[in-house]
This record gives sequence, C-alpha cells and structure tokens, in this order.
Amino acid sequence: MGDVRMSDDCIFCSIVAGDIPARVVAETDDALAFLDANPMARGHTLVVPKGHHQRVADLSREESRAVFDLVHDLAPAIEDAVNADAHTIGVNDGPDAGQEVPHAHVHIIPRFERDGGGPIHVAAG
Ligand code: C5P
Repeated sequence: MGDVRMSDDCIFCSIVAGDIPARVVAETDDALAFLDANPMARGHTLVVPKGHHQRVADLSREESRAVFDLVHDLAPAIEDAVNADAHTIGVNDGPDAGQEVPHAHVHIIPRFERDGGGPIHVAAG
C-alpha cells in the first residue's frame, strides 16, 4: 500500500489497517473487499478504497479504478460462491443517500430468484 490518508476514528480505516477484524474477501494495492458485518444476504460484500474518502467523487482516478475493478471481478465470483442468481451493486454516496459509514464503499449484495427479485434499498438503516 502506498502513502494513503487514514482517519483515526473511521471504522473502515481500522479494518484496512488490520486493527479491527474483518472477513477479507480480496485485496489489491488500493482496495479491500470484506464481508459486511450485518449482511442483507449471504456473501454481502463491501469494497472500499484503502485511503479515507467519504464520497466516490473524492477518490482519485486510480483509487476509483481499483475499487470498481475489484467490484467487476468479485461480483461474479461471489455470485458463484453463494449460488446466487444475480446481485445488486450499490453505493450510498453521502449521508442524504443513507450513507452510514463515512468511508466510500460499494455494496455487492447477492440476489436469489426464490426471493422474488425487485429493487432493494442498499443497506438502508
Ligand atoms: O452504505 P452504508 O454506509 O449505509 O452501509 C454501511 C455498511 O457497513 C452496512 O451494511 C453495515 O452493516 C456495514 N458495517 C460493517 N462493519 C462495521 C460497520 C458497518 O460491515 N464494523
């Protein structure tokens, strides 16, 4: 990992730093993927930049690519791993969109035909 900005009181920065345990799914130089602690479905995964930024637009191009490339690669792998039929990929980008953790993150939420489909609110609290 390069010289990334961390925030002392950010839970996801603590996970990136290894100070708080998480079930890590994948890691690259600039991004980390781990299982959501309060999953909406089995395999619900969060992909975060290693640096601390609240909003997607705050990420550098390189960090943004790292995060979304990992989403691109992981989504089908997670779908396979939990035998899902689809997935919802979403970002609550800002508090007024329901963002609870102020460190940008992409939700990958496996979806199952048996659950009837339809839109969901991404981890709305
Ligand atoms: O998009 P939003 O900010 O609402 O989502 C935050 C997500 O972070 C929630 O799905 C919550 O379960 C997850 N979380 C986590 N581990 C923590 C704190 C929150 O996986 N320690």
